[in-house]
Amino acid sequence: MKQMIEAQRAYFKAEHTLSYAARKRALEALYRAIESNENSILDALNKDLNKSSFEAYSTEVGFVLKSISITLKHLRQWMKQKKVKTPFYHGFSKSYVRPEPKGTVLVIGPYNYPFQLSIEPLIGALAAGNTVILKPSEFTSHTEHVIHDMLEKAFDQELISVVKGGPDTTKELLEHRFDHIFFTGSKSVGKIVYQAAAKHLTPVTLELGGKSPAIVDKTAKLDVAAKRIAFGKFLNAGQTCIAPDYILVEASVKDAFIKELTTTLEQFYTMEKNNYPSIVNDKHFERIKNLIDPDKVVHGGKTHEKNRIIEPTVMDRVTFDDAIMQEEIFGPVLPVLTFERLDTLIEELKDKAAPLALYMFSESQPNIDRVFKALPFGGGAINDTVMHVANHHLPFGGVGESGFGRYHGKHSFDTFSNQKAYIRKSTKIDPPLVYPPYEKREKLVRKILK
Ligand code: NAD
Repeated sequence: MKQMIEAQRAYFKAEHTLSYAARKRALEALYRAIESNENSILDALNKDLNKSSFEAYSTEVGFVLKSISITLKHLRQWMKQKKVKTPFYHGFSKSYVRPEPKGTVLVIGPYNYPFQLSIEPLIGALAAGNTVILKPSEFTSHTEHVIHDMLEKAFDQELISVVKGGPDTTKELLEHRFDHIFFTGSKSVGKIVYQAAAKHLTPVTLELGGKSPAIVDKTAKLDVAAKRIAFGKFLNAGQTCIAPDYILVEASVKDAFIKELTTTLEQFYTMEKNNYPSIVNDKHFERIKNLIDPDKVVHGGKTHEKNRIIEPTVMDRVTFDDAIMQEEIFGPVLPVLTFERLDTLIEELKDKAAPLALYMFSESQPNIDRVFKALPFGGGAINDTVMHVANHHLPFGGVGESGFGRYHGKHSFDTFSNQKAYIRKSTKIDPPLVYPPYEKREKLVRKILK
């Protein structure tokens, strides 16, 4: 590992990654590599998570291909140094911000979108001119192998190295100094990464999870809400960091909403059981299964051990005290809770950890304003779920316990860049304002610095 990191540092120091041409070349090579390995990637995602080719292409392969195209389109512009204003008291000066690569960065990926969540940060890191060590999730081993083989074939290891392995390998990696660490995964491992990074004062991005609510008030279009919630929740069998974790529906429309939801689920999934994504491993299968309270199930509830499939499940009459409300579900089980008054609900939510996402279904602008003003969350949507992730203009990331740092599109480029800020001063005149001795200058300085 030491050798690999040193080789990357030497490559970076030799300025091989700095130019626009080098970055463009790397991104184009990445695009070609993904395109030519598309079948193996889709096959690996199917073997790891039983993802259909529609889900695998739209949320993983196509997602990153589009992201590379967008990055290539804007890269030259993003790389340009930008002139900013300079206060008059600097005399004849100009000021600039020049984005520069950080150096050698480490990207650690999770299992749920094992391809997208490894490659998307890689795109930003390459665009910003860094060398990258990538550690995908070991849980989705087929995808891990494909990523490894694809990138090893397409790139010099001095630019991109893929490290395969689990916690021990990651811990070993984390002992080394990096110039940035980009981690996507659980809160508990996020803390391990943050602590390890602190030893070297390495900046980090933590893309974590949590319990993201979807609020449905009595003014909401219930049929539309049901469809959009069902899509966002049950996509990838609920193994989506920004999936609505639970529903908070206004009590007076709860029954009508559940009816819409169950009708929707019957239309969406009955015919496609075999095509439904599986839970990643036995441990998570058991964990999610144990969160289902049979007495409260109003739809689904069946589990198939052989292929680790849990049918889309809805639980009614759930309260914040239920077991399912004590941790991020990360599976296809949707608890429905009710509220009587929006203001009381907001006060209750203020005491909970800030979620990665929040969704509000409503036709009432005052209600939407109230929720969006009062509650912190990383990103979200009004009258939809998960779609903010697919707009590269929006900075993606968490707040509080759901993480910090932002990426996607230009935000990825910025995350992996050092914003070098400098002032350029004319030497034609040299006013003595700040030079000692200071007698008689203080009055003037006090006047200016107000
Ligand atoms: P995880 O934290 O278990 O694993 C993530 C990575 O950390 C893996 O590569 C794994 O090998 C490594 N790792 C695991 N244990 C480790 C340890 N003890 N020391 C060092 N490294 C270790 O996460 P996961 O289970 O793969 O993913 C699910 C979690 O990720 C959920 O909480 C989900 O919400 C979150 N997530 C967040 C986002 C986001 O964008 N914010 C996206 C996807 C998933």
